[in-house]
Amino acid sequence: MVDRPPDDGAPKPPKITLDHVGSVELHDAFMWDCPHCGRENWQRAITYRPTPQDAVKLGIDPTDAVDGVMITLPNYVMCGDPECGQRFAATSAFNDGEDEEDT
Ligand SMILES: [Zn+2]
Repeated sequence: MVDRPPDDGAPKPPKITLDHVGSVELHDAFMWDCPHCGRENWQRAITYRPTPQDAVKLGIDPTDAVDGVMITLPNYVMCGDPECGQRFAATSAFNDGEDEEDT
């Protein structure tokens, strides 16, 4: 016999199954924290899936793509807090510095 808590008569929440929910498409995005107010911000990424032929035409190195997807970084971001609204130049945590020139 399994021990169960006594039924207190309170209404039970409906069981949620996948039949009761819709679906959403997830998109690539960048997350950053505003250094001025601390708000967590999200910036949707622009993705491009070049065909090999497109890559050749555009002079894109296909090896720069991850799983066939190229993602562009924004140059600038703006805090979404209406009280803040500060703008910042964007840098990437993924930049390993190989594209930077030593000056
Ligand atoms: Zn802010």
